[in-house]
Amino acid sequence: MERVYIGLGSNLADPLAQLRSALAALAALPQTSLATQSSFYASDPLGPADQPRYVNAVAALDTELAPLELLDALQRIELEQGRMRKAERWGPRTLDLDILLFGEHRLAEPRLTVPHYHMHARAFVLYPLAEIAPQLRMPDGRGLDELLAACPFEGLERLPEPA
Ligand code: ATP
Ligand code: MG
Ligand code: MG
Repeated sequence: MERVYIGLGSNLADPLAQLRSALAALAALPQTSLATQSSFYASDPLGPADQPRYVNAVAALDTELAPLELLDALQRIELEQGRMRKAERWGPRTLDLDILLFGEHRLAEPRLTVPHYHMHARAFVLYPLAEIAPQLRMPDGRGLDELLAACPFEGLERLPEPA
C-alpha cells in the first residue's frame, strides 16, 4: 500500500463540479481509497493567459495499484470527463489529474515522472498539499515547508465553499 498525492485542476465546463466528480471517481478506483482531500482553490492559469482561472485541489490516496496502472486510471477519468488532448500546452481543460508523489518513489519512465517535475514551483499544488500533509517530505529529503517558503501564495485564492 502506498500513499499517493494527486493534483486536480479544471478550468472548463463547471470546474467545481468537475473536481467533485473526479474525487468521486478517485474514491471508486479499485484497490484504492481516498484518504483526504484539500479545500478547493482558484488559481491564475499557467501558460496561455487567455483562458479562465482554474480550480485546483490535492487528494491523498492509499493504493495497491502500480504507478502506471494508476496513471492509466487517471487518464481514463480525464477522458470520461471530456478531456481533449490539444496541441497547445497548458491550454484549457475540463480535468487534469497529475501524480505528484507516489510514496517515496522516484520514477523516470517515458510516461511518468515522479515526483511531478514542476510541483515544487506551483503554488496551486503546494498550498493545497500543505493543508492535508504539512509534515510531508520529498523523496530527496526537502520538507514541504522549505518548498513553500520559496513559492509565494500568488494568484491563488482558497475558496470558502466546502469541497
Ligand atoms: P504539466 O505536466 O506541466 O502539469 P499537463 O498536466 O497539462 O502539464 P498532460 O497533458 O496532462 O500535461 O500530460 C502529458 C503527459 O505527461 C501524459 O500523457 C503523461 O504520460 C505524462 N506524465 C509524466 N509524468 C506525469 C505525472 N507525474 N502525472 C501525470 N502525467 C504525467
Ligand atoms: Mg498538469
Ligand atoms: Mg496532466
